[in-house]
Amino acid sequence: MFINSKPDTFEKLQILSRDSQYDLACACGSTKDEHRTRSSTGKWIYPVTLPNGGTSLLFKTLISNVCSSDCKYCPLKGNADIPRCTLGTDELIKTFLDYYNNGEVFGLFLSSGIIGTTDATMERLIACADTLRRKHHFKGYIHLKILPGSSAAAIEKAISVSNAVSLNIETPGKEFLEKLSTKKDFMRDIVEPVKLISKLIRNSEKRVKQTTQFIVGAAGETDRHIVNYTKALYDRIGLERVYFSAYQNPSAPAEPQSEAGQQLMREHRLYQVDFLFRKYGFEQSDIIYDKSGLLSMDVDPKEAWAKNHPEFFPVNVNTAKRYELLRVPGLGPVAVDRILERRKLAKLSSYDDIIFSKKTLKSAKYLDFGGCMQNKTFLFNF
Ligand code: SF4
Repeated sequence: MFINSKPDTFEKLQILSRDSQYDLACACGSTKDEHRTRSSTGKWIYPVTLPNGGTSLLFKTLISNVCSSDCKYCPLKGNADIPRCTLGTDELIKTFLDYYNNGEVFGLFLSSGIIGTTDATMERLIACADTLRRKHHFKGYIHLKILPGSSAAAIEKAISVSNAVSLNIETPGKEFLEKLSTKKDFMRDIVEPVKLISKLIRNSEKRVKQTTQFIVGAAGETDRHIVNYTKALYDRIGLERVYFSAYQNPSAPAEPQSEAGQQLMREHRLYQVDFLFRKYGFEQSDIIYDKSGLLSMDVDPKEAWAKNHPEFFPVNVNTAKRYELLRVPGLGPVAVDRILERRKLAKLSSYDDIIFSKKTLKSAKYLDFGGCMQNKTFLFNF
């Protein structure tokens, strides 16, 4: 094992921020792969999407990449031959505050490998957040990772100092986690703490977000398994967001048709399904899979639904309800709301009235204008 006995803070951050890149449960990025984009000046600075739809920059790192666990998919697992290091509490706080006070970041995302025991590591994570809050009167955004197997006391304390917390669920069930880890117990270490976090947040007066993340493609699970579990997390536990991280086998080539490329496409499709649940009113029964339980690689999940429901189309732009317009490929919530606003003022009579962006063009073959449609040439040329 390579050991750099005295890396400085900059060197540590280079290593630890790189190792935090596959932890996505922090609203990192708004588009495909943007969540893996890092600043060229400091690799610990990530773009994130804010609740109001805007973007900002987050200071994101691990405290330590030392880990006593053995998750097969993880480059940090205890027996991996990688440079290891740990940031001290004061070292981390000072560096973060330098960035924050310079206006370069709006908040902090902190995670860690397991240094010895889970609760000892949680103490370090909490100490950073707590010191920022109490000693430095920091009122900004803090997202703390809650480690699998954390005690109820550690979870409660982490919530009390955070704006957002996440515990990665990793797999859609016990049988899949057993393939990946000999140390984590799915129910005891993951599901029960996830439920406890949800309960504590519900009972708290403070607004704290709870998110989680699946690793995609490491345990032989199908998209159907992940999608069904995701829906249950939203409906039964009330999670704010679910994230998906494609398993990246470091020894596999990264061409589009390779295994790694396919896992990235699966990740992308799962995000599209997630949006259909959260923003478009889709249900589990609306999601179309192939015989193996996988989403189509060629067609996005909304278009797959449209192709399977020709009886639903065409949708009349002037009379359709909001949920019907949201079923039209190419129309997102913003475009639908603009249509609803415009048609209050006057009857919409041509595609020119509803073309807000390139994406909207896709909707042409699924719409009609109630007998006054124009620009048919445009429609069929498209
Ligand atoms: S506990 Fe976390 S850091 Fe450690 S091996 Fe598992 S996924 Fe990696």
